[in-house]
Amino acid sequence: MGARSASSTSTICSAPASPSQLVTQSFDVLVIGGGIHGAAVARDAAGRGLKVMLAEKGDYACATSSASSKLIHGGLRYLEQLELALVRESLVERAELLKTAPHLVEPLRFLLPIYGWQKRPALLLHAGLALYDLLSIGDGLPPSGRLKPQEIAELPRLRRENLGALLHYHDCQADDARLVLAVLLDARARGADILNRRAVTAIEPLANGYTIELDERGAKRRVDARFIVNAAGPFVAGVDALSSIAPPPRPLRLIRGSHIVLRMPEPVEADAYTLQDQEDRVIFVLPWLDRRFLIVGTTEVPERGDPGAAACSAEEQLYLLDAYNRYFAPGSGPVTAADVVWSFAGVRALQDHGGRKPSRLTRRPALASIANGSGGFVTLYGGKLTTHRAFAETVLDELRGLGAYIGGPWTKDVPLYGGGESRAALLSLVAQDPATISRETRHRWAFTYGDQIERLYAKLLLEPNLAQEIAPGVTRVELIHAVETEDTITAEDFLLRRTRLHLLLDQGGRDAVATWFATNT
Ligand SMILES: Cc1cc2nc3c(=O)[nH]c(=O)nc-3n(C[C@H](O)[C@H](O)[C@H](O)COP(=O)(O)OP(=O)(O)OC[C@H]3O[C@@H](n4cnc5c(N)ncnc54)[C@H](O)[C@@H]3O)c2cc1C
Repeated sequence: MGARSASSTSTICSAPASPSQLVTQSFDVLVIGGGIHGAAVARDAAGRGLKVMLAEKGDYACATSSASSKLIHGGLRYLEQLELALVRESLVERAELLKTAPHLVEPLRFLLPIYGWQKRPALLLHAGLALYDLLSIGDGLPPSGRLKPQEIAELPRLRRENLGALLHYHDCQADDARLVLAVLLDARARGADILNRRAVTAIEPLANGYTIELDERGAKRRVDARFIVNAAGPFVAGVDALSSIAPPPRPLRLIRGSHIVLRMPEPVEADAYTLQDQEDRVIFVLPWLDRRFLIVGTTEVPERGDPGAAACSAEEQLYLLDAYNRYFAPGSGPVTAADVVWSFAGVRALQDHGGRKPSRLTRRPALASIANGSGGFVTLYGGKLTTHRAFAETVLDELRGLGAYIGGPWTKDVPLYGGGESRAALLSLVAQDPATISRETRHRWAFTYGDQIERLYAKLLLEPNLAQEIAPGVTRVELIHAVETEDTITAEDFLLRRTRLHLLLDQGGRDAVATWFATNT
């Protein structure tokens, strides 16, 4: 959604046409949407013994779930809105994800500068961080605190004029698209039928459930399901409208959030920053991809067009550049549009409580449901990447209420796909052979594929010629793994979501990957 890069030649959520056969199957649950929420529901339901199909119209995580700020966080600013339960739940889930997806979720220190001109008083921020510490007690992350003058003096770019204090606290950063994939592949391992490039195009109620038409890359197929879970993110209203028996529509506001990506200036900084704009919005400056880049975001503007085509506008880019320059003075001078190497935008579907600023609308997930005979239809709204597991449990409770016969919750503390090894264990896997793969690439693999790196190693042992490079650092073994295990169909799937190589490769490298996909898939 809305991602723009020199390497992108096709629409991200587009579905390449190819014929497929008609098959009729029956499922307990059909989940619509392969973003984080659809993935989490499919995983939880499959693990409780339900027969599940998940249909994603584009590529997995091609919409909001790959365009987030990539934070696994409590959401410090939600404390201001007294969303204590949401913050507490998010912090519990943050601790959970550090255990269950250590290859994808990493602690990150945030610096929070306090200047005289800012609207939020210093006392409020101190109190907020103290409460944040209290709500996250026992999760092993360092407590918040205040930087010493000498530490402040060592920061290379932060402006010092009018700086009152500099606080610090911890949250976590994740690869959002890969987190979705880790949940989906775990769902598949538990028996769910997980399919990308399958759009739900029609839903007809039956006496006890629904019959659903899928567009499978040009071919139509029908499946029956007793329950439907609509996890279509910003597209929920359109999916609900496909059925004459769907939950009553809720007023929604589609809010776009954009980010820009800059190259990390020299000297490299490891910390993230939580900044305030001139009003009361929060902007993050986040080191990304082994500190090679900085993500600056986000905006909050009404999305009036197709959420599938959301993109960072020139005004949003300017707003983010201004915010960055207000706080930082890089040696090379202010950053400008010419320094933006990429931008991306995602759309939240938030429940509209009327009149409030977008930043004041709750991020609390919600659902609506309707029974249909012994089946039913559940529609999901809002939510956070961070709380997907807990939200899925709520959805499963709802399905039980609608008559699904299911087991109890089971996902807590269960590693996601690839999440079976700690970060320390992954680092020791990086230190191992095969010598035909550079250490840099092995490191990237470890924190992309987690414990599945051993599958790549095992394949190389059987077929050493798979170490052949298609582009710098991109070997045949990785591309084959992407196609065979991760349903990767296009170069764009691989470059933008299975990996982040679209930013790490030059045009020649991206073209080489595109040629490989054109001839091998
Ligand atoms: C700018 C921004 C920043 C954010 N930052 C954070 C953050 O840092 N941390 C955090 O925890 N949360 C964050 N969030 C929230 C989080 O990203 C979202 O709540 C989450 O990604 C939504 O996931 P989803 O599965 O509901 O929707 P989506 O990811 O949008 O998935 C819906 C899927 O449904 C598919 N679909 C639609 N119609 C059909 C159909 N007819 N048939 C089949 N499939 C269909 C779409 O293609 C899409 O892939 C952020 C959100 C935004 C917008």
